[in-house]
Amino acid sequence: MHIHEYQAKTLFKKNNIQTPNGILIDATAQASDACNTLGGDIWVVKAQVHAGGRGKGGGVILCHSVAEVENTCDKLLGTQLITPQTDAKGLPVNQLLIEAGQNIERELYLGLLIDRQTQKITVLASTEGGMDIEKVASETPDKIIKFGIDPLGVLSTKDCAEIAKKLELNTALTKQFNTALLGLYNIFTQKDVSLIEINPLITTAENTLLALDGKIDFDDNALYRHEDILAMRDISQEDEKEMTASEWQLNYISLDGTIGCMVNGAGLAMATMDLIEHHGGSPANFLDVGGGTTAQRVAKAFELIQSEVNVKGILVNIFGGIVRCDLIAEGILQAIEKVGLNLPIVVRLEGTNAAAGLKLLDESGVNIHTEADLTKAAIKIVALSK
Ligand code: GDP
Ligand code: MN
Repeated sequence: MHIHEYQAKTLFKKNNIQTPNGILIDATAQASDACNTLGGDIWVVKAQVHAGGRGKGGGVILCHSVAEVENTCDKLLGTQLITPQTDAKGLPVNQLLIEAGQNIERELYLGLLIDRQTQKITVLASTEGGMDIEKVASETPDKIIKFGIDPLGVLSTKDCAEIAKKLELNTALTKQFNTALLGLYNIFTQKDVSLIEINPLITTAENTLLALDGKIDFDDNALYRHEDILAMRDISQEDEKEMTASEWQLNYISLDGTIGCMVNGAGLAMATMDLIEHHGGSPANFLDVGGGTTAQRVAKAFELIQSEVNVKGILVNIFGGIVRCDLIAEGILQAIEKVGLNLPIVVRLEGTNAAAGLKLLDESGVNIHTEADLTKAAIKIVALSK
């Protein structure tokens, strides 16, 4: 689960990580009061959406007057913000964070994640923070400092100071850095975080260290024990189709290819996507309908796949282990009767009662291409979708 920047900053403050003063608003009418409360004569208006790259997408605007802040709020509220990290539709801007402008001297990067290779919570830091950190990581990886934390130990002040030294921080800033990094580590371990990031972590002309941005991703499987985190969920930022899918216990993830997939089992779904790619196509989604699926769920899955505008063909790949292929075939036919079918479709059935299932589909009078072999099915749907 993702949260907004303003929510991350609330957690930061509780854990002794300093941030600029800011006020959250959801209407332009609240803007001038917010500016007056914050004081100063420069403010930054920041769109609250579940995506980074807001600076590049016009979602972080520096303003030099209250009128300019109001103007910016008017322009941003109620729109869809498109950034390099969103899809073409963007994400709705319902809230803005207004912050006091800062005298930035340096922009650093600081984050914690789980490094699966070393099996350690790992600190990532860089002197080259800011809007191009992805470029730094790919083009000059030596500029990223990595520090793996011993899973049986803790992160010590000495470890923090070592990282601070590599970031070329002076004594006063090192002290603030140690507090900030220990705070991040505390949030990470207490709240079952999978990624926590401050980018940029700035040093100011006043010799202070501030978290100018905040991003936190939580492990969904651990949310049951963090009611406070779950309460921060903002469904306006989530993919509607993925949400409908989860209500129907379908594991669904939208992708940007053209072949819709309906598969039972996550491993088989991955293999199916690989085969589609291998034969020159690209999947439009990942969809695992699960083990004991019903005709209703098959129908819902069909609806979801067909509602994706980029889908040019559908590949159904079912391995009948626990489920019977003839029941799946019945489900598919019921689904088509209910929601219609206006795309080429290839159905591959294998396992329990596969022959009976394929026969049902072949004799149904519906225009369905059946296959018993997965490779042949993949080649066929790639050809039909072109
Ligand atoms: P992101 O693009 O979604 O990661 O949004 P950020 O919150 O990181 O903001 C993007 C950039 O805006 C930062 O890297 C800063 O350069 C700039 N920025 C944000 N807040 C301020 C501020 O208070 N003063 C100034 N001068 N620049 C800011
Ligand atoms: Mn940022």
